Amino acid sequence: MTTQVSHLFEQLKAHYDEIVAIRRHLHKYPELSFEETNTSRFIAEQLRNLGVAVRERVGGNGVLGFIKGKNPGKTIGLRADFDALPIQEENDHEYVSTNPGVMHACGHDGHTASLLGVAKVLQENRHLLHGNVVLIHQHAEEKPPGGAKFMIEDGALDGVDYVFGAHLATELPIGTVASRKGAMMASVDHFKIKIFGSGGHGAKPHETLDSITVGSRLVTHLQQIVSRRVSPIEPAVVTVGKFHAGNAFNIIADTAEIEGTVRALNKEVREKIEQEIRALLEGMKIADHVDYELDYLHGYPVLVNHADEVELIERLVKENMPEVVYETKEPELGAEDFAYFLEHRPGAYFKVGARNDDPATHFPHHHPKFNFDEKALLIIGQVFLGIVEHYLMERGHE
Ligand SMILES: [Zn+2]
Ligand SMILES: [Zn+2]
Repeated sequence: MTTQVSHLFEQLKAHYDEIVAIRRHLHKYPELSFEETNTSRFIAEQLRNLGVAVRERVGGNGVLGFIKGKNPGKTIGLRADFDALPIQEENDHEYVSTNPGVMHACGHDGHTASLLGVAKVLQENRHLLHGNVVLIHQHAEEKPPGGAKFMIEDGALDGVDYVFGAHLATELPIGTVASRKGAMMASVDHFKIKIFGSGGHGAKPHETLDSITVGSRLVTHLQQIVSRRVSPIEPAVVTVGKFHAGNAFNIIADTAEIEGTVRALNKEVREKIEQEIRALLEGMKIADHVDYELDYLHGYPVLVNHADEVELIERLVKENMPEVVYETKEPELGAEDFAYFLEHRPGAYFKVGARNDDPATHFPHHHPKFNFDEKALLIIGQVFLGIVEHYLMERGHE
């Protein structure tokens, strides 16, 4: 470990109580995706108090902080999300949510507090920076279309060379940093299908176009896309979660509504599934004489990490963080809008273990009793600081 890195880590540790206090404040006052106006203002105020230049209302409630190094060089983007979820908290600690039905149940309060701690350390050390850091405080990660897309469209990545993001993970023990090269999280799309047949008497089916029979066959065919059209080596999911049709037992239903989700870990597979769904519907139209309407909503893309930046994180952890283990993460079919940042710039997304021996830290994300080991906030911060040190600080004589 270089003395420079250990200095940065020491400074971060010195701010631990403040980081925890900020996290608990955010936890107490959670706001839903796209409604985070107070959180957004709070973050901007914290950054201004540090003397960091701020841009507010970026693509919605997003906030950018600019740390300008003394010397020119590369610009590193560090992202933390800050929205909460529509969940009634069931914890009884002293910083429990005061906003009924809204809770920080994914750890975004922690991400934000950690990045604000990093901001403080970097601001104190900006005379050592050869380049700049953009603190990307992102709204609305939990709700498609998500805040990332709008922030990027509004210039969040202007001038940024590399971008990094982190997420707490209560499925991993404290002292773990996990990432993987290539696809790590899935794309997510949402389809809504309406089938228009024609109704009639249950005893005279030949005079009708039965939307339930046609819709049932469609659901079965949709299942065959993954099993018969996608390579068995490629993970993919087509799930129908909604099927509404009919009002009476003896009347043939004229319309059926079918909704579902499509997930994939590969852009080509994602596109193929959409094409197959469209082809099935066209076939259904001819074979079953019905009409249809399709609303195909594209959600977050596949999150694809860039190999060099994942290697950097692995190396940083191994060289600088003796108490932390680096792990190669298995891909998952959950989705994350940090994927958009990685479509535009090289970078990487990593997970930081946040469970300890206390069962209170064992609940999954989005659970009403979710909580985590706050020491993990230092680990996120250390990785971020290590990244900045790597790109923007000159190595002295060790
Ligand atoms: Zn979440
Ligand atoms: Zn999350």
